[in-house]
Amino acid sequence: MLRVALIAPPGGGKGTQAAMIKEHFHLTHIATGDIFRAIVRGEYKGNADVEMIKGYMSRGELIPDQVVIDLVRERISQPDCAGGYLLDGFPRTVEQAKAFDRIEEDKRLTHVIYLSVPHEVILERLLGRWTCPTCQAVYHEKTHPPKVAGVCDVDGTKLIQREDDKEETIRKRLEVYETQTMPLIAYYRDAKILTEIDGNATIYDVFSRIKEVLSA
Ligand code: AMP
Repeated sequence: MLRVALIAPPGGGKGTQAAMIKEHFHLTHIATGDIFRAIVRGEYKGNADVEMIKGYMSRGELIPDQVVIDLVRERISQPDCAGGYLLDGFPRTVEQAKAFDRIEEDKRLTHVIYLSVPHEVILERLLGRWTCPTCQAVYHEKTHPPKVAGVCDVDGTKLIQREDDKEETIRKRLEVYETQTMPLIAYYRDAKILTEIDGNATIYDVFSRIKEVLSA
C-alpha cells in the first residue's frame, strides 16, 4: 500500500504532481495548505482558531507544529485513508515528521518524494501563479495558462492570486522552507524512504519519474 509524502519548495510543483499521483494511484489526497485555507474560509468543521491560522498564513510563516500534527493525525485516521494516502505540504518540519512517525505502524509513510527546484525558478513560477478559488486548480501565466485568460478551465470561476503568492510573502516562505523544511530531507534520507527527483523538468517528465518510483 502506498502512503506517500511529497516535499517541494513553494512553487515546486507539489500541487500539480499531487493531482496526477492521486488520480493515477487512487490515493486520498491531503493537502494541509488547502485544509488551512478552507478553515480560514470557514468551510472546515472543527474548532480551529481561525484568526491565529490566518495570521501565520498571511505572514508566510508555518502554523505551530502541534496544531498541524493534531489535524493530520485526525485526518489520517478517517476511513478514506485506509487504502493509502498522499500528503501534500506535510510534514514541513522535523518536529512534524518525528511526531508523525509515532502513529501506528500501518499508517506510517512508505515513500517520501522530494522535488528539488532552484531558487530563481521558484520565484519565477510563483510570481506568475493564479489559483481557482472554487476548485483550487493552479495555473501559470507562461507554463500552464488557462484556455481563456483569467478563467478556470474546470468550472469557469475567475482566477485569483493567492494572498501568500505576493512577492514579499513568497520571499518569506522560501526562507522558512530553507531553514525549517530542508532538514527533513536528511531525516528521510536516513530513514531510507526518500527519493529525490529533479523538479525543474516538464510536468510529464517529473510525473513519469514519480510513477517509476511508486510502482517499483
Ligand atoms: P501550501 O499551500 O502548502 O504552500 O501552504 C500554505 C500555508 O499553509 C503555509 O505557508 C503555512 O502557513 C500553512 N501550512 C501548510 N502546511 C503546513 C504544515 N505542514 N505546517 C505548518 N504550516 C503549514
